[in-house]
Amino acid sequence: MGINGKILVFVDLPDGELDETGRGLLSYGARLAGTLDSPWGAVVAVTPDSVQLAAFGAYGTPTITCMAGGETLLDTPALLGKSLAKLAQDELASVIVLPHNDLGTSLAPVVAHELDAAIMTELVTVRQNADGVRLSRKALGVRVAETRLWDCSRPLVATIPLRALSQVLMPTVRPSAPAVASWRTTAPISGAAAAITGRIPADPQTVDLTEAEVIFSAGKGCDPATFEQLKELCKLLNVSFGVTRPVYDLGWTSFERMVGQTGRTVTPGLYVALGISGSMHHVGGIKDSRRIVAVNIDSKAPIFPNCDEGFVADLKELLPRLLDQVKTRIGGTP
Ligand SMILES: Cc1cc2nc3c(=O)[nH]c(=O)nc-3n(C[C@H](O)[C@H](O)[C@H](O)COP(=O)(O)OP(=O)(O)OC[C@H]3O[C@@H](n4cnc5c(N)ncnc54)[C@H](O)[C@@H]3O)c2cc1C
Repeated sequence: MGINGKILVFVDLPDGELDETGRGLLSYGARLAGTLDSPWGAVVAVTPDSVQLAAFGAYGTPTITCMAGGETLLDTPALLGKSLAKLAQDELASVIVLPHNDLGTSLAPVVAHELDAAIMTELVTVRQNADGVRLSRKALGVRVAETRLWDCSRPLVATIPLRALSQVLMPTVRPSAPAVASWRTTAPISGAAAAITGRIPADPQTVDLTEAEVIFSAGKGCDPATFEQLKELCKLLNVSFGVTRPVYDLGWTSFERMVGQTGRTVTPGLYVALGISGSMHHVGGIKDSRRIVAVNIDSKAPIFPNCDEGFVADLKELLPRLLDQVKTRIGGTP
């Protein structure tokens, strides 16, 4: 049992550029097409310029469908979703791939509803079996792990978590010169739709740690003075801060800041572990971070084999110096 139609990968072009998420989605699309032995192509709401076209080509993107007028719908996801569903019908798509971000999670239910399609959010792995396609996901901050069987009788709408996206160019993918086509809906898209009037960027000081981009975490190697210095550093650098369980147990911060197996499972681009030994209960909650940097006074601390970069240093010396340097850079004086 296999799929009959095409895989459509919806790529947003913030500021007209193919960003990290877009590149990751193209890489995902190329891999998925190989797994399902199916043709694939990209869909964009903003027409790419020649530089961006070359970037699409580097990922072997065979076709790009530009939604005429799509740019004006970006602030009304319900209407954009309806439009995308019509395009998917016109292109006889079997799979519609979206990023699991603000835009993708707004579009996915609309597209699935319009197409009467199956929906799988935070999809990670796809396997073709004799009885159908097995779809596995880890959702809700990796608290849910499940595998579902898709019988391919209806289209599938899938959102892909950003942590599962890799911009790596697959060696099997040949660069292409994508065939670009413009698509315009024949029926008018209408309906009551909430419009986005503004976007407020997440505040790293309050954002849920599962969504944080950069986290500096304090372990038991911090004393009250270095802990306060670390919090000040996080504010100055505008990054999120987390703690290990013993630090939470001291009552220095709330439970939402605790990272690890019983705390938050985090997947930031950068995780900086300060005075953290690296127990399995803590490492289990950080191992999917893109880059882990550790500072510990003990060169034999178990965190070191689990990090990308390790520094043997005393936080009592390091943190005041780091703070001074950051203050000098930001404000001119320490
Ligand atoms: C069922 C269960 C669930 C758990 N869940 C979690 C969880 O979700 N999250 C979690 O974090 N823990 C959890 N734990 C606890 C976990 O096993 C460890 O005890 C804990 O992670 C250790 O925290 P730590 O690294 O801060 O402290 P420690 O293990 O005490 O390590 C402190 C480190 O700081 C270094 N250090 C000391 N002084 C300095 C200095 N001046 N400069 C630099 N480095 C210094 C030391 O060399 C040491 O490596 C759990 C335990 C159990 C039993």
